[in-house]
Parts: sequence; C-alpha cells; structure tokens
Amino acid sequence: MIRFIPLGGAEEIGASCYYLNLFGTGILLDSGIHPQKVGKDAIPDFDILKDEPLDFVLISHAHQDHIGSLPYLIKRYPHVKVYTTPQTVQIADITLHNAVRILKSRLTEEDGIESYNHQEIDLLLRFVNDFSYNETFNLRGLKHKIHEDIKITFFEAGHILGAASILIEIDNKRIFYTGDINLGTQSIMNGADLPDGKIDILLTETTYGSTDSKKLGTWHSEKLRFAKEANKILAKGGSILIPVFALGKTQEILSVIDDLIESGKMTDSFIYSGGVSKLISNVYDDNRYLVKRNKKNFELKNVPQINFMNITDLNFFRRKPGIVLASSGMMLKDTSSYKLAKYWLNQVNFAIYVVGYMDVDTPGYIIENAKKDDKIIFDDPLKPTKVKCDINRFYFTAHSKREELLGIIKKLKPQKVVLLHGEKESIDWMGSLVLSKKLSEKLYAAETNKEIILE
Ligand SMILES: [Zn+2]
Repeated sequence: MIRFIPLGGAEEIGASCYYLNLFGTGILLDSGIHPQKVGKDAIPDFDILKDEPLDFVLISHAHQDHIGSLPYLIKRYPHVKVYTTPQTVQIADITLHNAVRILKSRLTEEDGIESYNHQEIDLLLRFVNDFSYNETFNLRGLKHKIHEDIKITFFEAGHILGAASILIEIDNKRIFYTGDINLGTQSIMNGADLPDGKIDILLTETTYGSTDSKKLGTWHSEKLRFAKEANKILAKGGSILIPVFALGKTQEILSVIDDLIESGKMTDSFIYSGGVSKLISNVYDDNRYLVKRNKKNFELKNVPQINFMNITDLNFFRRKPGIVLASSGMMLKDTSSYKLAKYWLNQVNFAIYVVGYMDVDTPGYIIENAKKDDKIIFDDPLKPTKVKCDINRFYFTAHSKREELLGIIKKLKPQKVVLLHGEKESIDWMGSLVLSKKLSEKLYAAETNKEIILE
C-alpha cells in the first residue's frame, strides 16, 4: 500500500512536509518551517506520525519552508536518515546556522519545543547523505523492517541552486515529487529536467496556479522594464530598495543588475548587499561548473557590492544613491528590508521594487499593493504612513507558470496527481484544467493531516 499524509504546506505555501508510507517504509518529503508563523504553529505537526514508521527524509531544497524544521525532526527522530543534494548541504550549513538565533527568539516555553544549537546542526549535517543530480541510489534500511528496493534520483528543479525534484521508484511504481520547480530559465539557473517515461503518481506544486501568465511576462521583458524604471530613479539621485530572499533571489537579481550595467542598458550605480547572502553567493560561485546553469564563467563575487549592514545613518543612501538588495524577501518585521522600507517610504525620489512572491499578511504584501501617495498601515497600526516613494512590481519568478505545470503533467502522464504547495485558488485552477483536459485518471487536492491512499 502507498499512503500519503501532508503534515504541512498542503493547501498553502507554508511548512512543506509530506509523509509517504511505501509498503511499510516511512519517507518524509521535506521538513519546512512556516515563514510567518511563530512557535509550535510554524513547525509541521510531527505528532501525526506517532503511530507511523519513519525511516528517511528527502530534502528538495534549502529554502526555510522546505528545510527549516529538519533540526527539530532529527531531535525527535534521531535514527532517521537524511538525503539531499551536495549543494543543498552546503547552503544549509549557512542558513540553518543563521536561523538558530532567530528561531530561538520565536519559541516560548508553552510551545514545549526544545530549540537546537550550532553543535547539533554540525552533527546533523555531517550525517546527511548527499547525492548529485541524475545519480540513482538505493535507500538502505535502519530501524524498521523496510522495503528492500527503493530507488531515488534527484533531478535539477531549476528553482535555486541545489533544488531537486525527486523520483522514487519501488516495485515498478514511479512517484515524482516536483518540490519547487521552474521549467523556465532565470538569470543564473537553467530550467528543470524531467524524467523520461511515464510516472504513476505525481506530487506537484501549484504556486502560480491562480496567476495569469500574461501578468508574469518573461524574465527578458521584465529585465528591460526594470532597467527603464530604475534609470528614472537613479537619474533623480534616488536609491532603490529591493526586498529579496538571501537564498536564490539575491543571486538572480545581482546577475540581472550586472547584465544590465555591463550591456549599458542601466546606469552604473552602487550595489548594496549584506547579511548571509554573500556566503550563499560564494556557494553559487563554487558550484558553477557542477550544475546546469547559465553564464558558467560569471561569478557573483566579481559584482562590486558594498555591505549595507554597517550603515546606521540612512541619509547615506541620499548621498551615495544606489540599489539595495536586503532580506527578508517578504519584508518581515525587524528584518533589514523592513527597517530600510520605513525610511524609504518617506523619500520622494526613492523607490521600492518588489521582485518576488509576497504572502498575504506580510508587510511586503502591503507594500506590493500600495502606490505613491497612498496611506498604508505599515509600522504603527494606529498611524497610517503616507507613501512618498515609488513602488513598482517586477515578476522575476523562480516557479513554473501554470501552463508549464500542466505541461509537466502532460509529459509525465501520471495515473494519479496530487496538487499541493499552493493557495486554494491555485489548486482549484490546476484541478479544473487537469479534469477538463483529462490529464490523469485520479486527482487529489492535498490537505494537512488528511490521508490519501494512492495504491
Ligand atoms: Zn523554494
């Protein structure tokens, strides 16, 4: 029997964590943390697994919503074996350490969850099994009597460095988990690879299921629009704030800006960055010949950048205007991008450019949906802030468009499709198209803690 139970990230983009029971062997796909929630609510409900065997964890990529709760999981199930790509291990070595302090501050005693320390992360990462893309390996058993022959292959997912879609083969059944997947090409990352042949069960993300692809444009058209708008601000002596995830978006946008300046399409200007993004950029540089990517000779470290973390007097950005890449990507409270935005909103010649996905209920979402002269509730709930700077939205997406997601289903011809990792409207759009186009025999919308018997 093949059973599937989502522990999180099913009907939302949150703490991705999906349990698969393959003929008695327990596998978790990802172990994420919810980026906005705090305490116990941010972590997948591992209690769902109390009567289930758990033998292996396969991690698709190093974004916090896919790996952030791994240390908690391993504390609770120390015998579990973890598998991922070598690049994800290298990035996790930076991001999991970086998250220790942040997560500790977000847990209270009532949560009843013990936080973890740096030594535990070192230990955890030392025992992770890493396998390169396209290299098929067998899962080897531990605690429970496990099914003897489970084969795993990681495929390039085109989302961020190290990101994998995961093929699981057992008894001639083929299960494919997309993870976060991008078929299109970004500035650095190349599009995803898919397995040859038919798949029996497809577990697919649906992030952009409800987004009209015309709105998303292409990376190329967005890049040109970005240059045109940025030139106007820079010509006025203004600075541009871009909230970005330290992992993935920072590197892609740096590459976009470098291309535009090098090709003379954008005014040469100072570029400000800071925090852990530089360490992550080094991992991108180190792996440039080991993964499928554009511009193999391009190194992020050769893009001149000024560390903004030590700048305390923000009027500095009026004297030395430029483009600031600051995390968090969704401008969560007390992060660099949030603090800078408070200043930016008051500057007439400045601009904030949104370039990535913003969850509803985040400060970034409020900014994304505001325009010059609007009054918004940003910092002080009792005192609206007047938006004096420009606000613009660019679509540099790291996820597949919805037609591309349907294309994956058409190519892999799965008998069964499980839709996950998307808001309700996204899952609904994908579901109705899969049904009307008869793309699979059976269709399921994943729900947290709701078991699906797949075989
Ligand atoms: Zn991701």
